[in-house]
Amino acid sequence: MQRCRSSRIKPFLNRGTLFVVSAPSGAGKTTLCRELLRRIPGLRLSVSYTTRAPREGEINDVHYTFVSEKKFRGMIEKGEFAEWAVVHGNLYGTSSKRLKKLIKDGYDIILDIDVHGARQLKSTWDNAVYIFVLPPSMQILRKRLTGRKTESAERIKERLDNARAEIAGYRDYDYIIINDKLEKAYDELESIVISSKIRTANINPKWIAGFVK
Ligand code: ADP
Ligand code: 5GP
Repeated sequence: MQRCRSSRIKPFLNRGTLFVVSAPSGAGKTTLCRELLRRIPGLRLSVSYTTRAPREGEINDVHYTFVSEKKFRGMIEKGEFAEWAVVHGNLYGTSSKRLKKLIKDGYDIILDIDVHGARQLKSTWDNAVYIFVLPPSMQILRKRLTGRKTESAERIKERLDNARAEIAGYRDYDYIIINDKLEKAYDELESIVISSKIRTANINPKWIAGFVK
């Protein structure tokens, strides 16, 4: 017997939901989202376009689609982004085509995007849940960024400076997770995702109508 993939079943019960996750760089958003993707079936990451250089171990079209600034600007001109922003001096954007394809295929989607991008999506996307991840303190944020060893001292300073402005935008989000103990933060994130899925507004009326036929 052929096994049903949850992604095939989902569209009949739920509408696809967008989970927008933002955080100051180094707060642990990537760590939390990777675990969520590993554990929650039917959830996919929206792979962004960026002009930033790949870090060691990053794979094109898996972690990001790495493109030149010329190519990125061309995509802006053609209106190909659902949102885009300049973050820490590089361009990052979410392809509308990719988002629509994931929704059509019945997936829930995680978008790991900055506060400016989240704000743009809010004005156009009605079915999104906004989650903000905070570190326990600025000192710990600095420690995590340094410990990750992916940025130079100058870049770390830039990211810490940006963090203050990003945190000031927390009111735009539905949920705040403080990532102190990783397990607790993860449980909170998973709870948000699971409970959002069963919100009445996300249930497909056609699926319910099947009961009373
Ligand atoms: P972001 O995606 O928000 O920039 P990362 O997920 O890359 O952040 O995390 C930054 C660093 O902090 C990584 O080295 C990661 O392993 C570490 N980290 C993440 N969450 C925690 C936590 N709760 N406790 C300690 N270290 C953490
Ligand atoms: P990093 O360079 O550390 O991978 O990401 C830097 C920042 O860019 C993070 O805050 C991340 O959320 C944000 N980012 C990644 N992809 C996108 C995107 O498509 N759009 C926007 N607006 N921000 C993004």
